[in-house]
Amino acid sequence: MRRTRVVATVGPSSWDSDNLSALFDAGADVFRLNYSHGEPEHKTELYEKIRSLETSERTTCILADLPGPKLRLGEFDGVRLLRNGDIVRLICGKTSYDGPELPVEYDGLSAELKVGDAILLADGLIRLSVKETSGVRASFVDCLVEDGGPLTSRKGINVPGTTIDLPAIGPKDEKALAHAIEAGADWIAVSYVRTAEDIRPAKDAVRAAGLHTPIIAKIEHPSALKNLHSILEAADGVMVARGDLGVEIPLELVPLAQQNIIDAGLMRGMIVIVATQMLESMTLNPRPTRAEVSDVSTAIRQGGTAVMLSGETASGEHPIKAVETMVRIAKATEDGLANSGGTPGALSKFRSTRAVAHAGVELARTSGARHILVATQHGNAPRLVSGYRPDMVVTAVTDRIRAARRMNLLPGVKSVMVDEYERGSQTMQEAIRILAAEGSIKSGERIVAISGSPLAMRGATSTIRLYRLEPDGTISGTE
Ligand code: PGA
Ligand code: MN
Repeated sequence: MRRTRVVATVGPSSWDSDNLSALFDAGADVFRLNYSHGEPEHKTELYEKIRSLETSERTTCILADLPGPKLRLGEFDGVRLLRNGDIVRLICGKTSYDGPELPVEYDGLSAELKVGDAILLADGLIRLSVKETSGVRASFVDCLVEDGGPLTSRKGINVPGTTIDLPAIGPKDEKALAHAIEAGADWIAVSYVRTAEDIRPAKDAVRAAGLHTPIIAKIEHPSALKNLHSILEAADGVMVARGDLGVEIPLELVPLAQQNIIDAGLMRGMIVIVATQMLESMTLNPRPTRAEVSDVSTAIRQGGTAVMLSGETASGEHPIKAVETMVRIAKATEDGLANSGGTPGALSKFRSTRAVAHAGVELARTSGARHILVATQHGNAPRLVSGYRPDMVVTAVTDRIRAARRMNLLPGVKSVMVDEYERGSQTMQEAIRILAAEGSIKSGERIVAISGSPLAMRGATSTIRLYRLEPDGTISGTE
């Protein structure tokens, strides 16, 4: 079983039903919906299309990625070619514009920039320097094109070294967040997190809706590197968002930042997604470069639990091949890699569940069990078990599809749905029978089952049992 998860961003190259289905079959574990583009309500149909791919064997998983306080160009028609040495005028406070100037959504930019500031467009492909600024809001900024190139609508704008005065969750994010919650996103990513406080609005909104949707902090701003530990303490997962990070900090520091973020995530037993430009050349070409293959493999060997495709699957020419390539690299890397397991440090969240999870993993190691079953209603207990990176296959046993779907982003975790959750050890034995019937558990194998007692008691993961599947199909307790 492949442990590393593959996240595929959905866009024009992949959003029709046939392509979504092909991505799913090729091994996309998680579909990322990027709320930076389009109106939130237009995504409703995508949720439906993705959910319709589900079978009794396999659930789908949707990651809703909020836009965050990222500056963007407004809408304009066609492609603009910026030439080195040209002067280009930005008009701030415009969501779309027909004239020769470039529209910028955020009206405050013309007041916040100073002469000499560098402005990077399109993940740093284009570089401008400020020549003249009006100094007031909703006005103009004239810039010299230092590194030109072709430019299309809605591209990101980075002003390295400045912290733009926008809240982490602005009005656009609120709309996106409300939509993601209503539509049933399985994970939610918060963009441009600068402090742990930036996670809170998303956490609060999820809680207010009576849900347990886990939150991912995207690390893409220098302040987030400074506040990494408190941010990770507040979040449930983390993304190394190299696209923006690589323009906000010197590019050559990104690999070290990646390792630091992965290490910090692993120490907490969190999922870590490594994102952006992983197979960038496949946007146009059917085969990746050697360097890209090495990058994906390195991210996995460093301890990343998921690798992500962005433009490759959203707007590229070879979305399916990109997923297939990633799956092949993940498998080959895992085959050559002994999963050494990890031991997250002492943490404040879920302290007792974590201790039980740890004990369950230890029992599996010492007894030679190949399977760990974890009963769950919200997906937290399997998340904690997977944080110890056990060699065994971890199976979440649940009666809730929402919990089952979330498991698709956890490394090495699958899920099985049971009808009656509350029957204690009988429920776990039923799950063993289901897994035995599909051939996942073989006779003679030992199984560790972790659950609450009673099973559905909130936050009460407290029980570990060791079973063996006998040749006659019965399940016995064992030493
Ligand atoms: P984005 O985030 O694709 O939403 O910008 C990822 C990144 O910045 O790398
Ligand atoms: Mn980003």
